[in-house]
Amino acid sequence: MSNGTDALPDDTRARWADLVDAVNRARVEYYQADAPTISDIEYDDLYRELQALEQQWPQLVSGESPTQTVGGQRAEMFDAVEHLQRMYSLDNAFSDDELRAWLDRVEKGLGQVPELLCELKIDGLAVDAVYVDGRLRTLATRGDGRVGEDVTYNAVFIASVPQLLVSASGAAVPRLLEVRGEVFLPVADFERINVEQLDAGLPAFANPRNAAAGGLRQRVDRRETELAAARSTAKQGGRSDAKIARMEAELGRALSRLNALQLTVHGIGAVDGVAITRQSEGYQVLADLGLPVSARAKVHSTAEGALEFIAYYGEHRHDVEHEIDGVVIKVDRLDLQDQLGQTSRAPRWAIAFKYPPEVVRTRLLDVQVNVGRTGRVTPFAVMQPVRVAGSTVSMATLHNAFEVERKGVLIGDMVFLRKAGDVIPEVLGPVADARDGSERPFVMPTHCPDCGTGLRPEKEGDKDIRCPNTRACPAQLRERLFHVASRGALDIEGLGFKAAVALLDCGLVRDEGDVFLLADSDLLACPFFTREPGKDESGPQLSENAKGMLANLDAARRQPLWRVLVALSIRHVGPTAAQGLARRFATIDAVSAATVDELAATDGVGPIIAEAVVDWFSVDWHRDIVEKWRRGGVRMADDVVEVGPQPLAAITVVITGSLDGFTRDSAAAAVTDLGGKVASSVSKKTQLVVAGENAGSKLDKALSLGVPVVGLDGFTALLATGLDAALTHTLEG
Ligand code: NAD
Repeated sequence: MSNGTDALPDDTRARWADLVDAVNRARVEYYQADAPTISDIEYDDLYRELQALEQQWPQLVSGESPTQTVGGQRAEMFDAVEHLQRMYSLDNAFSDDELRAWLDRVEKGLGQVPELLCELKIDGLAVDAVYVDGRLRTLATRGDGRVGEDVTYNAVFIASVPQLLVSASGAAVPRLLEVRGEVFLPVADFERINVEQLDAGLPAFANPRNAAAGGLRQRVDRRETELAAARSTAKQGGRSDAKIARMEAELGRALSRLNALQLTVHGIGAVDGVAITRQSEGYQVLADLGLPVSARAKVHSTAEGALEFIAYYGEHRHDVEHEIDGVVIKVDRLDLQDQLGQTSRAPRWAIAFKYPPEVVRTRLLDVQVNVGRTGRVTPFAVMQPVRVAGSTVSMATLHNAFEVERKGVLIGDMVFLRKAGDVIPEVLGPVADARDGSERPFVMPTHCPDCGTGLRPEKEGDKDIRCPNTRACPAQLRERLFHVASRGALDIEGLGFKAAVALLDCGLVRDEGDVFLLADSDLLACPFFTREPGKDESGPQLSENAKGMLANLDAARRQPLWRVLVALSIRHVGPTAAQGLARRFATIDAVSAATVDELAATDGVGPIIAEAVVDWFSVDWHRDIVEKWRRGGVRMADDVVEVGPQPLAAITVVITGSLDGFTRDSAAAAVTDLGGKVASSVSKKTQLVVAGENAGSKLDKALSLGVPVVGLDGFTALLATGLDAALTHTLEG
């Protein structure tokens, strides 16, 4: 650190000025326009560099520096509300070490180890609500911490913002109560609103925080007044109906966005008429008054407890109905909070532990197309590889040409990319302000990139376009062959994508019908499947992989009928429909001979799938595949078992984690064989959750919904005797 009198190098001052500019610009875009042009992690990096520079050169620090101020100026369109007490931002910790360092400072400052209140850091926008004699007086955004934007009018549309406080326990309602909280959008609504934005030709929101801000920071009152005025002019024959309809639609959209917002209160400002000694106790008082507080807040007395809370929600981040970007740790006792005080920007008694970001910015290098196994041509984004939510992402599907246009992305654009946990990465939209004119639009090809056939939609009005050369298009063949061997179909290890390509390139298979006719001698003709001869061997020999593939092909000949049906790539026929068909018809011949009505009457099969099955079998070369597989020894029939009693009929079970003695499939099959249903997600309707080793979020969900959970014992009892027996083995939550 310089002592403040060392001469400041020119380039340091210049860098500092650049950083201040960049941070201030980002703040305006984020807080005022609800449309950031850089990601949060990029903002945090700029901010931390600025902080580090100012720490090294204290003479740079001025009251105006963003490190000393709470971000967010009031936008002109809103009236000003002066907060009764200042609102602050939070300092951040990005690692356990940074959290411990904060805790050390706190302990030193207090001379004791304080109890810590751990809360989720909700990714929303901060608001301040003032209640006078229990009645909502103002609702305002945080603004610069002193003066916020008046959004009181909008509060009536947000169900969780009470207009009137009433104590459930009959306690007196405080004369004055100022609370702080987060207005947020639940994830499901965030996704819906982004679809609505794109449909209306507007850019998607980069994250739920911006979407929540965009929802709350609207002058709904003005829209209503303008609409009323337009209606009255129309009555006098002035305005057009079309204009009024448009205004009504806009108002409807604005209100639906407001209705989706929720509030969670996480702080108390000015109070008169209630005495509180701890923040956690304060939450109980607020809850009693009808204010929404989080049920997940927890007091821990050690750093370890707080770190466990952080680790738990790091793992279960997506089990929470709203987005969280971290955890906030607060000193619980209010007298100790006062003792620690605050800087001009943030309290010293609280810290935000930030989780890794789930929205990042990267360059869209290209849009390419992929031809799928049913001929569908799908554009996908090729991006500068970027790390997000625990993995490196360089590709994301763009679904179809309409979607590319709807998102407004150009090749060469900087784009926001979002990947939340296990969710498939999604390009949210372009950073339009970052364009330099070199970007170009994506043009959907008119001909198949693999076989040159003209592309067309299957039916008029379809958004997807397809390559109609289904039989011979190399891309479709490759994908179908690969699919035959996939885990969900015939599960043939060794027949991966590369092997599929080699089989086709060497001309060993013309279509998937030929795979079960392959002999050792065929493979010897293709270098991919051979190895160099040994000393005593003449000519190339089959590689170990090739031998393995042949052995696995042999095993696949005895796979149950449903897997064969899936392997045939019949449109819409996945495992559920295939299992239904196999149960009902038992042989492939019976399936192919069945009528649409007969097929549609099968469990798990509706009219669309039934039509697709009939269509598929009506094509000559499809029937040839079946015949070739038959010649190749594929069984294509299940043993007909007398359907015994169905003790699990009408019972829905969810299986999670691994169960000794069962694979995922065999455990599910054991349930369905007895007439039960296996669902993939837990809901209130689930009758039983079977949780094996390493059960994940489904177990948590079951416990939170009060659905009975059993382990292996209970599962065995379920299969042997039925649900009642299983329920005697329920695990305690
Ligand atoms: P912050 O969001 O890091 O933390 C402070 C806020 O956390 C509080 O104001 C409060 O509203 C909120 N919060 C949520 N749950 C809380 C809880 N349980 N208890 C207390 N507070 C809780 O700080 P900030 O100053 O609002 O914003 C800075 C952050 O915003 C940056 O780190 C960055 O992520 C983002 N940002 C991004 C850009 C951009 O251009 N991408 C620009 C500015 C800010």
